[in-house]
Amino acid sequence: MRVDGSLAEGVGSGRGGTGDDGRSSGEIAAAEITGAWQRVKRRLRAELGEDVFASWFARLELQEVSGGVARLTVPTRFLKSWIESHYLDRVLATFRSEADGIESLEVGVRGAMAPARPGAATLTKPAPSPRPAASPVVEMPEPERAPRGPVPDGELGGAPLDARLTFESFVVGRSNALAHAAAERVARHDGGPALYNPLYFHAGVGLGKTHLLHGIGHAVKNAGRRVIYLTADRFMYGFVNALKTQSALAFKEKLRAIDVLILDDVQFIQGRSIQAEFGHTLNALIDAGRQVVVAADRPPTELESLDERVRSRLAGGLVVEIGTLDEGLRASILQSRLEAVRASHPTFEVGPAVAEYVAKAITANGRDLEGAVNRLLAHATLTGAPVTLDTAETAIRDLVKNREPKRVKIEDIQKLVASRYNVSRSDILSERRTAAVVKPRQIAMYLSKVLTLRSLPEIGRRFGGRDHTTVLHAVRKIEKAIGEDTALCDEVELLKRMLQD
Ligand code: ADP
Ligand code: MG
Repeated sequence: MRVDGSLAEGVGSGRGGTGDDGRSSGEIAAAEITGAWQRVKRRLRAELGEDVFASWFARLELQEVSGGVARLTVPTRFLKSWIESHYLDRVLATFRSEADGIESLEVGVRGAMAPARPGAATLTKPAPSPRPAASPVVEMPEPERAPRGPVPDGELGGAPLDARLTFESFVVGRSNALAHAAAERVARHDGGPALYNPLYFHAGVGLGKTHLLHGIGHAVKNAGRRVIYLTADRFMYGFVNALKTQSALAFKEKLRAIDVLILDDVQFIQGRSIQAEFGHTLNALIDAGRQVVVAADRPPTELESLDERVRSRLAGGLVVEIGTLDEGLRASILQSRLEAVRASHPTFEVGPAVAEYVAKAITANGRDLEGAVNRLLAHATLTGAPVTLDTAETAIRDLVKNREPKRVKIEDIQKLVASRYNVSRSDILSERRTAAVVKPRQIAMYLSKVLTLRSLPEIGRRFGGRDHTTVLHAVRKIEKAIGEDTALCDEVELLKRMLQD
């Protein structure tokens, strides 16, 4: 029996083959397995939280089950080794509790690039990977795009700096002026103990964190000092690898021999031993007066997977938030992008009206602005026609529509949850602590965390001025309950859907 990517097919042929006599012992119906696998993923998501799930399991797929072996696939070797070393037991235990007859797991790498490995290579089905035509290659934060091979001995696996992401190409506006100033000071500082240590940037996606970090990296390098830029996944990978080859001490020593350590996307740091090691490394570097620069998608206090002491160490330097890009800043970034493109495509012209339209329409972030420029360029080179407002509108339509996240309002969450549980919205906001009110309140807090971009303190404020620890407690509690109680899990899933449709 085979359950593959095209599940409908797998299910169909499975049924066709079983006939009237039912399935042979030990063989498990495709539909059952498919359902079980979906429950496994749902439970992993609920138990581990959205971030961990998205980092490691979102691309984990079931390829086939036969002879008691469930074969799973992921797109990269990095993910494979990470899941194998950290989560295999957990996935197996969860799968076993959802389906009979599973004895072991195998994780393979799908895709043409995968090196042949007996038992796994035959399972691979080249994953369709429609890369957006002109998507630029900056250092990818997602673990899926981590280095393919092992980190070579004697190297820390630092990521290369993108030549385009410099201070010179960074456009300064109100929302990022402070971050930019701090970055420049840190980069130009030489001699004496580090200034703000660590320097911590946080912002939503596409607001320029990675750009600033690379800018620091270039400037430090140009000044002849030693710098290493690591994404969280590279840090973890380097460390896991060092542990495997028992060179962890050397890895740490090497890390400590540099002047500036830049660490991007630290919200992805997972796993107890890695976190502890991250904490030690941080302490050692800071205590030795080395500059540490860190970026994440949230403030240090909200790095829930990190130990309290590590969080407070991260918060102990200078923490700077980069705000959303206002229209003026978007227009300037767009102009500088267009100019950069014109350097290699001198005939590419975008008039002021089109530029204004794009800067108005693309509100989300710098990444989408860059995507828009690439679309316009593709359009212009393919058709040879000048970029008009009409063509621009068509070219970026999907960026405008799809990338705008569906905004769920906390108020709507409160209203919906209240009505489902027969309480009033003011009950939810009140101090009342009867079970009939506490549960819906906690569910509403959980949904607010999962479905909106609001921070815990902000959610606390919107729930009658509660403390962020109360919200965190509610979130954890519901996460746990969802993992243990399928009825609740379905209920919450339904609420989510109602809110998002
Ligand atoms: P983050 O790391 O915060 O997700 P990035 O640094 O990757 O965001 O930025 C996304 C894109 O937007 C990059 O192409 C970056 O060059 C561009 N960008 C963001 N902010 C600025 C800025 N202030 N000036 C110039 N480009 C910017
Ligand atoms: Mg980034």
